[in-house]
Amino acid sequence: MTPGLRYISTRGATAPTELSTALAAGLAPDGGLFVPQELPGLPLADFDEASTLAETAAVLLRPFFAGDRLAPELDAICREAYDFDAPLRRLDPSTQLLELFHGPTAAFKDYGARFLAACLRRLCDPADARPTTILVATSGDTGAAVGGAFDGLDGLHVVILYPDGRVSPRQAHQLGAFGANVRALRVAGSFDDCQALVKRALNDADLQHAILLSSANSISLGRWLPQMAYYVHAGLQHRGATGNLLDFVIPTGNLGNALAAIFARTIGAPLGEIALATNANDVLPQFFAGDDYAPRASIATLANAMDVGAPSNFERLRWLYPDPAALRAAFRATSIDDATIRATIRRTWNESGVAICPHTATAMAMREELRSVSSRDWAVVATAHPAKFETIVEPLIGTHVAPPPALAELLSRPSVARPVAADYDALCAELRAGS
Ligand SMILES: *Cc1c(COP(=O)(O)O)cnc(C)c1O
Repeated sequence: MTPGLRYISTRGATAPTELSTALAAGLAPDGGLFVPQELPGLPLADFDEASTLAETAAVLLRPFFAGDRLAPELDAICREAYDFDAPLRRLDPSTQLLELFHGPTAAFKDYGARFLAACLRRLCDPADARPTTILVATSGDTGAAVGGAFDGLDGLHVVILYPDGRVSPRQAHQLGAFGANVRALRVAGSFDDCQALVKRALNDADLQHAILLSSANSISLGRWLPQMAYYVHAGLQHRGATGNLLDFVIPTGNLGNALAAIFARTIGAPLGEIALATNANDVLPQFFAGDDYAPRASIATLANAMDVGAPSNFERLRWLYPDPAALRAAFRATSIDDATIRATIRRTWNESGVAICPHTATAMAMREELRSVSSRDWAVVATAHPAKFETIVEPLIGTHVAPPPALAELLSRPSVARPVAADYDALCAELRAGS
């Protein structure tokens, strides 16, 4: 039998845990984030036989599933989760767009959410009469991706908490448009309030006697690991075509997406430089510029899914790079303000005829800055479809952006979200009523 890879906590006080248990738990019991106990080697030669994104993902993730009861299901999980492409689109001789928005809810979070759903659905215990409820706080895109991934699955309920009035109109519509097993609650408060409510519920032993709770937030191992696949796929394609390593600029909030690229490169994937673009929430750029890490309350920007003042995956980055000087030397990070986001959406449309979302625009603006220091080929990571943010994008480019078919279909459904106060007892009452 293959020796299994175990998962430990960034805080070091959780016993080595098997993958399935770590996936179902979300957060490690000591409050830390799950990470692999050893860094598995990448079976580079095996990628020769993988051509699709799903096949690449299965080769990449095999060592991470070694010894787990989900291992025999990995190929099927990958076929289910990666059933839409992540194409590279050429914009100019040294810039490509890595389009991660071709999934059902038009943002990169579809990959992680669908992978996690494919795993949890197989881990569900049919003997337990209580359905599992996935509780998720969202600044807009996570909730939709999770709702879409679990929509209609038996025995799995989803409750989405989002800050009322602080997501785009289309994001709000999506959140309330799923089937009966997915409920949206619009919270009279901020994203930080939503996240605090979810954390408290996940740590509430009393509540969990009545309701089997699980999470799908951006620190979940089941979202982080599968996000490596599109970077490896793009890196291999680029190296195959040019012999060179592809560099990436990644729009960054909680650092989940960027950390997937960083981790893939650490275990040997052929990826070049990784640069982090944030919006005006500049905790990371300030750290990389030499300041202490100083999390603080987030401020609202045009790139709302990146409005994060305390990037939750920073703890994993520190685990990978325990020495702050080595960490600072390894990456660039830049903060992009709203005026530059607007100017970049307009410029990209005028120069390339391509509409980009406000999040993608932060990376595009950083790529522009990098022209003076790097002549290599950069991939700007496009994290959401511009039609999700049409109220921002359309006035800037002066034309209609058609929603992709899956998004259009969701927008044509009725949408329901119940209002709740940013109050723990109110949330508990909702949870107990609905399960
Ligand atoms: C969530 C999100 C981000 C930020 O990703 P992190 O993994 O939190 O860094 C960027 N862009 C879009 C469109 C998102 O939905």
